Amino acid sequence: MMMLSQTEIENSASIEECYRKNTHSSERLYTQALTAMPSGITHDLRWQTPYPLYVSRGEGCRKWDIDGNEYIDYLSGHGALLLGHGRPELVEAVQHQLERGTHFGGNHELEVRWAQLVQQLIPSAERVRFTASGTEATLLALRLARAHTGRSKFIRFAGHFHGWHDHFVTGYSSHFDGSVAPGVLPEVASATLLANPGDEESVNKYIDSDPDIAAIVVEPTGGHFGSSPLDPSFLKFLRDAANAANIVLIFDEVVTGFRVSPGGAQAHYNIVPDLTTLGKILAGGLNGGAIAGRADIMGQLDFAVSANEGREKIAHAGTFNGNPLSAAAGVAALQIVATTDVCDKANRYCADLRHALNEVLADEGLTWVVYGEFSGFNLFTNPKEHEISPLDFDPIALHPLEIVQNDTKLMMLIRLGMLINGVDLTPRFSGWVSAVHGYEELHSTVTAFRNTIGMLRREPGLTI
Ligand code: PMP
Repeated sequence: MMMLSQTEIENSASIEECYRKNTHSSERLYTQALTAMPSGITHDLRWQTPYPLYVSRGEGCRKWDIDGNEYIDYLSGHGALLLGHGRPELVEAVQHQLERGTHFGGNHELEVRWAQLVQQLIPSAERVRFTASGTEATLLALRLARAHTGRSKFIRFAGHFHGWHDHFVTGYSSHFDGSVAPGVLPEVASATLLANPGDEESVNKYIDSDPDIAAIVVEPTGGHFGSSPLDPSFLKFLRDAANAANIVLIFDEVVTGFRVSPGGAQAHYNIVPDLTTLGKILAGGLNGGAIAGRADIMGQLDFAVSANEGREKIAHAGTFNGNPLSAAAGVAALQIVATTDVCDKANRYCADLRHALNEVLADEGLTWVVYGEFSGFNLFTNPKEHEISPLDFDPIALHPLEIVQNDTKLMMLIRLGMLINGVDLTPRFSGWVSAVHGYEELHSTVTAFRNTIGMLRREPGLTI
């Protein structure tokens, strides 16, 4: 239920005024949050002007804020909730485990089942090691690749996100010129060889001119789950290039794993990396990550293998690695992924959603476009006014970094407009679809988009 009617919305002076009228309790809580946490938030993606929403409850593909407003949820737990909020099998598994203990400081049966499910689903997973987050998984992947090859640098792609640790902060959303992000050691930043996504020539040049490359790391469906799209033929090129130079190919499947298909992007495209990093859906909506891959590379974590080979084992600890609660949720989630069509369902819904939203844009005469693949969608508002037909657009045709450049203020207004109309998505107007979004939600999302465009057209000082 929304607090403002369409008439009240139309009678408001601005989009921000509408948002404020709807969300008094969030505004009050944010004032307190500001005095306790930098920007009042715990993740940069949750920053929002004039203030973010505070959510009290989720169910299926919907959630409610603390003022009682209901939203269709396309944040989907940053992509972790392929099965939606409160899936009964997961709730039951976690409750059952909660009563038995949340941490044994030891090994337990569920972590073995969990690793076996990863092995069963992910083609590259000869061995699995759990971490507490996707960020930790990419950190460990680099260490393994460096130790395995005895080399230090790695190739990554502009706009691809691999977590927030020092090695990957250069070249994700800034520092594309190789400059050093605050707080990062220059020698750490200088190990990054940055290329544009899809740029085979740059990758070849790096490999030909530098014998010190340990790894190539890529988000296999493109930066930020395809916000910055990637031609899949590039994956084959990377596989061949890495093979030829004995470089470790790492697919970061933290978001695509168990989502694009039960076996991730690698199963869909039939290209097997040497190492895979996992997270999100892996742990069924609780925290968790994993690295999976070739037995010889993963063997560096193995006491017996390392001793036999006469080399120092790679160190890896972590209090919450494979913890029983995450394992319970993860096993329940992966069993559903393995035995049902949840990935296909989410993919189909999202394709229909993208199409329906593009029909709205075409109807409204806007040269914006909603694009994406699998269960992801993104909006490009075309600031340079290219000739674009929303219903016939190839995102690969645009530069992979241009397509993510929208006007920040406009995007914030669109986000507020969608919230006022009962839809929550990211500040970039992107989202992750779950397997429980249905056609009622699709219809409501389309209506919300149409209403939002109406609000933008009435917004003082804005022309679209
Ligand atoms: N890699 C990718 C591709 C991701 O999408 C994310 C999370 N958005 C991460 C790594 C980092 O995972 P986490 O947030 O669990 O640390």
